[in-house]
Amino acid sequence: MPYRDYKIDKVNVKVKDKFEERELRLLSSQMKQYIIKRLQNNVKALHELGKKGKKVGKIKYIKSLHSIFLMQYGNTYTLDMKKRTLHIQGLGDFKVIGLEQIPNACDITTANLIERNGDYFLHVTVYVPKEEKVHNRKAIGIDFGVKDQITFSNGIKVKYNVEMPKRVKKLYKVFSRSRYNKETKERSKRGQKVLAKIKKEFAHENNQKKDINNKTAHYVAANYEFVAYQNDPINEWQRLFGRRIYQTSIGGFRDTLKRKVSTPLEVGRFAKTTGICMYCGYSLHLNLSERVFKCPSCGHVQDRGVSAAKAVEGLSLRNVGETLADDDASTSSMLEYLKHIPHVKASIADEARSPEQADGAQEAPSVRTG
Ligand SMILES: [Zn+2]
Repeated sequence: MPYRDYKIDKVNVKVKDKFEERELRLLSSQMKQYIIKRLQNNVKALHELGKKGKKVGKIKYIKSLHSIFLMQYGNTYTLDMKKRTLHIQGLGDFKVIGLEQIPNACDITTANLIERNGDYFLHVTVYVPKEEKVHNRKAIGIDFGVKDQITFSNGIKVKYNVEMPKRVKKLYKVFSRSRYNKETKERSKRGQKVLAKIKKEFAHENNQKKDINNKTAHYVAANYEFVAYQNDPINEWQRLFGRRIYQTSIGGFRDTLKRKVSTPLEVGRFAKTTGICMYCGYSLHLNLSERVFKCPSCGHVQDRGVSAAKAVEGLSLRNVGETLADDDASTSSMLEYLKHIPHVKASIADEARSPEQADGAQEAPSVRTG
């Protein structure tokens, strides 16, 4: 190990097959200390692997380092929430966006300064007081679907679709035409640049989806103690329906939900929840194209998703021996909240018709006005 001293201010840099001595001007001693530490840990880990009989290669030089660990908040780095700036020891002040992601009451600890495709990010680790789990005996059921991604038992439907912008397609074309050097296994400079742009677009899209999932799951977890959903084979749907599922990432939503809610209630994937009448219990097979459930026995009519979400809720509450009524009072505030999440379309499913109303409708067909 050539460098042990973090007070070091000159290093040898390998340029082609010669070494050049260069000055270290920007790194603070704490950053150097960390980089040395990381190297030592890597070497130790490799050594351990070697002892276990794993094949370990030689240590090689790398072209660049894409992340630096900032060890101590208030020393290595400081954030000014009001001025929206980040101060890094030895580097100075930088404008930052996204500070609102850091909760108000929290302890900021370490951070990782990351360079990715030409952009700089700061990953901050914070300690937040443990979230109070809700105990309000309120329950909600959820149905996942391909057409309407999320349907809640209170009748709210959520659709979201984060689409890749058209320019990405163009970028792909440019990339595929860029020169590829078989010897160095490298794309041309232009090709590499375009690839970095494509990666950036993907990262952006993923962040948008994560944000939607977090916000939606947060609302549900903060307002309902019992949250019921079915363990649908979402991965298989992705294979069958491809892009449509990919663009929504409902699997990601379900995982976030599981983590956040007080009492998640999961219904097995093979339990029948679609096509069951909530009034008389009549059960029939619904094709995927049939969006409305009409009970042939009692005449009850309900949106397919809402009917399934209610069935999931009822089934899972019975499984744990709970009887809870639906809470319709909070539906409008939930709808308002969801509508304000970017890229989300939230609406109320068409009103259900009870058996009596359905009978009435047969006797006196509705009259079109206006
Ligand atoms: Zn019925």
